[in-house]
Amino acid sequence: MNGELAKIRLDRIRSLAENCRLCPRRCGVNRTRGGTGACGAGRRAALFMEYVHWAEDADLVPAQTLYLAGCNLGCRFCQTRAERNRLPEIELTPALFRDILARGREAGAATVNVLGGEPTVNLPALLELFAETGDFPGLVWNTNLYGSSEAFELLAGVADIFLGDLKFGNPGCAAGLAGAADAGEVARERAEEIFARSPEALIVRHLVLPGHFACCARPVLEWIGRRLPGVRVSLKTIYAPPPGLAPADGLNRFLPREEAGAALELAREIGLRLTRDAPPPLPAAPGTASRPGSLPTVCEALISPEGGIYLRHITREVFEAARAAAAPRD
Ligand code: SF4
Repeated sequence: MNGELAKIRLDRIRSLAENCRLCPRRCGVNRTRGGTGACGAGRRAALFMEYVHWAEDADLVPAQTLYLAGCNLGCRFCQTRAERNRLPEIELTPALFRDILARGREAGAATVNVLGGEPTVNLPALLELFAETGDFPGLVWNTNLYGSSEAFELLAGVADIFLGDLKFGNPGCAAGLAGAADAGEVARERAEEIFARSPEALIVRHLVLPGHFACCARPVLEWIGRRLPGVRVSLKTIYAPPPGLAPADGLNRFLPREEAGAALELAREIGLRLTRDAPPPLPAAPGTASRPGSLPTVCEALISPEGGIYLRHITREVFEAARAAAAPRD
């Protein structure tokens, strides 16, 4: 992350935020005066969870991961809504951010991963923070890509990696699943712009949803093959239903193995450059606690009807325990 560049861009981000046009919602509120729009993000960034994540893609781990409040999509399958709703938020001050960075370095973190919620709706606060704290390596902007072109332009050269979701294959699914019919189209536009500026700065992610192979996974993967040749692709075939979905909701089930297999096979047929999951060997980094005392980390384990074990929020301790449990016994 380039702090000098963040500083240079403060005037432009303030002007975007005064009549908020950071994303296609174009709420027009004055975010610099504390106005809030559809995303609910405020003048300052608020953090609800933070830890060093050991189960991100191999190129990104260990990932110091900061979960920020505020989001401009209403995904029914959101994997962090439960935590956002039940955990206390604390303001991400420069002092707290420096402390988090220092503890991440101690724990051997290779990247600093901002997500949410959605980091782009927190861009004014984050640019101010980065301008104040200065350079640090490996900023990953983990985003739904539902932002304006201007907002993402301001991030060019500031973020080192864009980990961008391409969730939807058509407007109907985007409207029904996330409340924004244009979410897929906007995300594809932003992905193409980022890719044109710096192909290696982009990783696109697709989470395969149960019942959405033909309408979403297939068109998204085929589009990536046509429009983003050689881009890194993080294909997630481990969907587990978040809490709170109605029993009759089509997303209230694990991804069937056949659909996971079909998506992986299609990706290989197209010749996509799939990222690797986190490697099993752990470096001999100190296992320093990675969160401020007032921020709990919630690890959850779910077991699918097929016997698959799904873990959410995987710290070093959880990763080591899971690896030990999975090791073959004599
Ligand atoms: S970032 Fe938030 S306030 Fe700004 S346009 Fe988007 S939803 Fe509205």
